[in-house]
Amino acid sequence: MSNILFAASEVFPLIKTGGLADVAASLPRALTRVGQNVRIILPAYTPVMKAAADIELKKLKSFDVDGKLVTLWKTKLPETRVTVLLVDIPEFFERDGNPYCGSDGRDWPDNAQRFYWFAKVVRLVALNQAGLKWPVDIVHCNDWQTGLIPALLSRDSARPKTVFTIHNLAYCGVFPHQEFLDLNLPDEFWHYESLEFHNQICFMKGGLVYADHITSVSPTYTEEIQTPERGHGLDGLLRHRQEHLSGILNGIDVDEWNPATDKNLTKTYNRRTLDKKQINKKALQEQLGLVADPDVPLLGFIGRLVDQKGIELIITLLPLLIAKGYQIAVLGSGNRQYEKSLTALAQQHRENLSVTIGYNEALAHQIKAGIDIFLMPSLYEPCGLNQLYSLRYGTIPVVHAVGGLRDSVTDYSESEQGITANGFLFYSFTSEALLNAILRAARSYQDKTLWRKLQNNGMSLDLSWLHSAQQYLDLYNRVLGKPEESSQSIQTESALV
Ligand code: ADP
Repeated sequence: MSNILFAASEVFPLIKTGGLADVAASLPRALTRVGQNVRIILPAYTPVMKAAADIELKKLKSFDVDGKLVTLWKTKLPETRVTVLLVDIPEFFERDGNPYCGSDGRDWPDNAQRFYWFAKVVRLVALNQAGLKWPVDIVHCNDWQTGLIPALLSRDSARPKTVFTIHNLAYCGVFPHQEFLDLNLPDEFWHYESLEFHNQICFMKGGLVYADHITSVSPTYTEEIQTPERGHGLDGLLRHRQEHLSGILNGIDVDEWNPATDKNLTKTYNRRTLDKKQINKKALQEQLGLVADPDVPLLGFIGRLVDQKGIELIITLLPLLIAKGYQIAVLGSGNRQYEKSLTALAQQHRENLSVTIGYNEALAHQIKAGIDIFLMPSLYEPCGLNQLYSLRYGTIPVVHAVGGLRDSVTDYSESEQGITANGFLFYSFTSEALLNAILRAARSYQDKTLWRKLQNNGMSLDLSWLHSAQQYLDLYNRVLGKPEESSQSIQTESALV
């Protein structure tokens, strides 16, 4: 058994802006189930402290770190035994709203300071110097907000091993040189082989340069980020660290996302009672003001309305899809221009198109259960969770063949007689290619036997975290120089299906 300190900037359900929060909750839970001793460490943002107060909140320690008073609190991940340590530095984390930006959508101006100080405290906990009497074997860091942790620890001789997971390389945490000076970081870090990146400081590089091992959240994305096209200027560094880089596909929380027990649904269902999915379709159509027609293909999109998600391809196609009589349900928020275009189209086509701007967890579940086809035309997708949730809900994904989408969806035409097929892929990032895939899906939808087969194939997959947790465990053991508990090689771990 190892002691694993899992550092993240968001954890569901305490605070969430995207898939990272889901992973930061599910992976520690799964690791606990396979016998590891895991503690999550998270900044004590105001909404987190409020949520924790309703669960369990215990003050552990208060101490001075270079003139700042830091308090460590302890709570639990709701409905689990997993401990969450909260790093409370009021001047940085006592703010309402989003962990990264204010209500105007702009990044907090002191983000470099905030996550530097978080890293400083995590380092002390990792070195067992925060008075917790808990020696750490592995510090598992996630994305740029935790990038300085491996960098700071690299200067300590007796330190735990570090693993750094890239959830999205596009967000690197890059700040002007002045921030580097203000943080008073050691001079040796100002070097192109260290944190310096085109005369700026890059927090992500702290993880990429100094972690004992780097992972990303799917095998295909791991390949993609080693190319100039998807490497965001860091592909050379990643190729250099190839021997310490591997891809492990995320799992999903199969309790949270279970159509057989989901309290958000009008009617729960499973593989054997798939007919009841129709009841959810009808309820969704009524709820969203769409015509309650059981036979019309109902398409859906849920996610951040940003370029990465390929939302412009969908917007381009909407008039055509509506003209074909299809229905579409969209839930998301993000880029104001996308929000406006979608809302305007929905006002013109109320019976076919529903657009909900905002974040709504319950509606996300209802859409997953009620729609027939889930659209995920992402330009790139490190792993993607929405296609995995769709597979579990008997909703057929239509996805761009990149990253984790490529690793989790098997196209009908590519699978021999559809034996393992569970969705539709398209290969070039154009609205024509997406349209083609949608039309193929809509044609298959008319063939009820084939459709049921695709649904069954998706619903039969083991998408649970246990499979991925086992791979992380093997990796930790390898990094620690312990014998592996499974014979599988992580480097060659292939797709889910
Ligand atoms: P990313 O992490 O890039 O945003 P993922 O597909 O990996 O994309 O994960 C997105 C997560 O956020 C999923 O759990 C998804 O259901 C959820 N989500 C995104 N936007 C919304 C929204 N507007 N309402 C509810 N859930 C949302």
